[in-house]
Amino acid sequence: MSHLLVVEDEEKLARFIELELKHDGYEVSKSGNGREALEMALENDYDLILLDIMLPELNGLEVMRRLSREKSVPVILLTARDAVMDKVSGLDAGAVDYITKPFAIEELLARIRVALKLHGTAAGAAGVGAQSDGAGAKDEGILKWEKLVLSIPRHEVKYDGHLIELTNREFLMLQTLLQNMDIVLSRDTLLEKVCGYDYVGETNVIDVYIRYLRSKIDDEYGVKMIQTVRGVGYVIKSEG
Ligand code: CA
Repeated sequence: MSHLLVVEDEEKLARFIELELKHDGYEVSKSGNGREALEMALENDYDLILLDIMLPELNGLEVMRRLSREKSVPVILLTARDAVMDKVSGLDAGAVDYITKPFAIEELLARIRVALKLHGTAAGAAGVGAQSDGAGAKDEGILKWEKLVLSIPRHEVKYDGHLIELTNREFLMLQTLLQNMDIVLSRDTLLEKVCGYDYVGETNVIDVYIRYLRSKIDDEYGVKMIQTVRGVGYVIKSEG
């Protein structure tokens, strides 16, 4: 089981991330303070650290700088929207990835899986790791429907070998629907997955993304992939 350190001083967000990670089979430790987090990271061997940048006492970049003098641990930075400089200095300082707040939890989980796979020493999350010995490993993070193939690690969608250009949110929407094949997802559920748990706005933004996806996939390839369930939501059925 991979052990993650979550460093985030927004208590609600930290708690939310912790619950989701535990649900996915990770062991989780938490800190809301840069100095404490650095001490914890020096004393323990975490498989990965999720690190907020704006932290009390010691900021995330400084934590990373000091930590990297002592040991090598993959770090995913949590950055505020549009903090481009943070992202650049963060990646310069050795972060393996960053994710912008607010984020959809599915995206964070996907990035953690990728980071652990590429940089981790352990086998990954309990659930994922258990399947990743042997031949199944290369199919990890690959979702399929008829001739459509979505690769989470490559962040890529192809239909019959043709690359389909999707925005981040369209990709997440499609990924969420494929991961829940044959399950009807409500607009609220999709909204939380695609726009983040604290998104405030209209749920009809989901209908807009569905329309984009249909024009890029259904219309383009003459299929009926995403089905509307009137009054409930949307579903992709394994047998169209
Ligand atoms: Ca913060």
